[in-house]
Amino acid sequence: MATPIKPTSHTLLCFCCFLLLFTIPPPSVAAGDSSSPSQVISRFQQYLQINTAQPTPDYHLAAEFLISQADSISLPSRSIEFVHGKPLVLIHWPGSDPDLPSILLYSHTDVVPAEPHKWDHPPFSAHLDPSSGRIFARGSQDMKCVGMQYLEAVRRLKASGFRPRRSVYLAFSPDEEIGGHDGAEKFAYSDVFDALNVGIVLDEGLASPGDSYRPFYAERSPWWLVIKAVGAPGHGAKLYDNSAVENLLKSIESIRRFRASQFDLVKAGLRAEGEVISVNMAFLKAGTPSPTGFVMNLQPSEAEAGFDIRIPPTADPESLERRINEEWAPVSRNMTFQVMMLSLLAPMNGDRLIANKVRRREQ
Ligand SMILES: [Zn+2]
Repeated sequence: MATPIKPTSHTLLCFCCFLLLFTIPPPSVAAGDSSSPSQVISRFQQYLQINTAQPTPDYHLAAEFLISQADSISLPSRSIEFVHGKPLVLIHWPGSDPDLPSILLYSHTDVVPAEPHKWDHPPFSAHLDPSSGRIFARGSQDMKCVGMQYLEAVRRLKASGFRPRRSVYLAFSPDEEIGGHDGAEKFAYSDVFDALNVGIVLDEGLASPGDSYRPFYAERSPWWLVIKAVGAPGHGAKLYDNSAVENLLKSIESIRRFRASQFDLVKAGLRAEGEVISVNMAFLKAGTPSPTGFVMNLQPSEAEAGFDIRIPPTADPESLERRINEEWAPVSRNMTFQVMMLSLLAPMNGDRLIANKVRRREQ
């Protein structure tokens, strides 16, 4: 979700759901006008119909489409391949005072894979349900809607005769869903980026089902936690304390209660989704394999579970570490853990965009 941007003295990194389209009073439009709602929807559908799903996205078709959009509003554009076959499209709306730091509107063209048989409509059909107004397409939220909103906002502003003081750039990068190393990362460290004199970047945020949008200026940090319990193996018919599965289940119950307490704050409207710590189970591993599945009359000696945790900048990471140590993987229940802390922000020396820190307690 995050775009790595090289920090400079004049770069303010801003993660934001940028929906300028809806903040501009709509000009009166005649039917058939390129700004009419049906034309806007049709262009959005065209973008959605380009299959840019990882691992085999059609980057070039997406780039061609975006360049055709820039052409249609008479804006200069270029397709830059920092890595062969992975074009980043850069569109330029020159400002009246080009010496001022510019505005960069960022989005990515690739989308995560889809399983077509689980969809009501094919994921790249961009089917529009006339009764609900919903469009069914992979990437409609993450984040082709935002890319098109940038373009449509510029289209409307240009049509109204507005000219920005600062130059505005629109960047459409490839490969964000697989790390962004060949697109946004190379762009952020390039002379091309330096020459843009970027003052602020608007990136992706959360989709909104209504007409109000929240701006965000930070990113949650992912922690990937694996907890493991060990215990004496025993017969499936026997009740005894401290089996691995029993100890792991106690931890899972504790984690589940914590998750519910965080989620309750969101449900009660006291916190936004990005302001609480989210915890979701990623895997559960236990059991003694047999040729037909698992041995059913044996309590296993090891059990393990993995969790994806997201921590907002406002949370206290030390108290969460304590919680992991004392409640989720306590020594008293024969438990160990490993937590991989992933940092999405570039350190100031700039040579690593994702810094990994690992904490573990082994027996
Ligand atoms: Zn995204």
